[in-house]
Amino acid sequence: TLKQKVAVVTGSTSGIGLGIARALAGAGADVVLNGFGDARAIEDLRASLAKDFGVRVGFHNADMSKPAEIADLIGYATKEFGSVDVLVNNAGIQHVAPVEEFAPERWDAVIAINLSAVFHGIHHALAGMKQKGWGRIINIASVHGQVASVNKVAYVAAKHGVVGITKTVALETAGTGVTCNAICPGWVLTPLVQKQIDALAASKGIPEVQAKAELLGAKQPSGEFVTPDQLGQLAVFLCSDAAAQMTGANLTMDGGWTAQ
Ligand code: NAD
Repeated sequence: TLKQKVAVVTGSTSGIGLGIARALAGAGADVVLNGFGDARAIEDLRASLAKDFGVRVGFHNADMSKPAEIADLIGYATKEFGSVDVLVNNAGIQHVAPVEEFAPERWDAVIAINLSAVFHGIHHALAGMKQKGWGRIINIASVHGQVASVNKVAYVAAKHGVVGITKTVALETAGTGVTCNAICPGWVLTPLVQKQIDALAASKGIPEVQAKAELLGAKQPSGEFVTPDQLGQLAVFLCSDAAAQMTGANLTMDGGWTAQ
């Protein structure tokens, strides 16, 4: 159980982050949510998580592309909740274009949110974990932390970088009670992927259901999406005592994508 533990999950107003926040709350952790969205909808989400699981749930609106706001997020969790015991670096964006047409501003944005934010979060949260002699850092990388796909140069670079951060931090924290691991999901049906399905359907003039099948068929042998709840349960496992010696690992949950 994660009772008395505080988890910060970046980018948890939607998709995978929300699935992980829900699973950690279900395991008894107090949770600090983060991300963009309608203020009213976020407050409803915050209140319902707290009520459903009987845990404290807070929200901080840090923009993960801004280092000073990431410092504020960790500061808020430490001040209002007492500590940051679990840090899930999940916020992320995608941009799809061939490298020569890839807008440099989009490169900067993807690198800032998907890669640099992981460094800044750990940079601010690690001292507190070491002091307590317990901590869990979970970085949501991707299959694209291990292999590439066309037209995703910034995303693939960022996710490979996240795998590198994960290994380095695992070495620096070995033996301290803190672990650092990466989760590498394949296709998960979230708003981030729905945009790519819509684009595929539009470009080929095919129905959405066919676009989904083509998307999965091209990469994911299982032919099915991974779910945010399944990823949440993996995160809960990484927080358990059973996972105390698991550190520096890249855990794929990808329907066989990277086995090919
Ligand atoms: P999503 O779009 O559903 O959710 C992204 C979350 O991040 C949202 O809460 C959004 O508000 C937040 N966010 C975006 N920019 C932010 C910023 N600048 N500051 C703070 N929050 C910000 O996407 P998702 O599919 O759930 O993706 C979550 C993570 O999982 C990402 O790192 C993504 O790369 C990774 N991932 C997704 C898939 C997939 O198939 N969906 C596969 C592998 C890895």
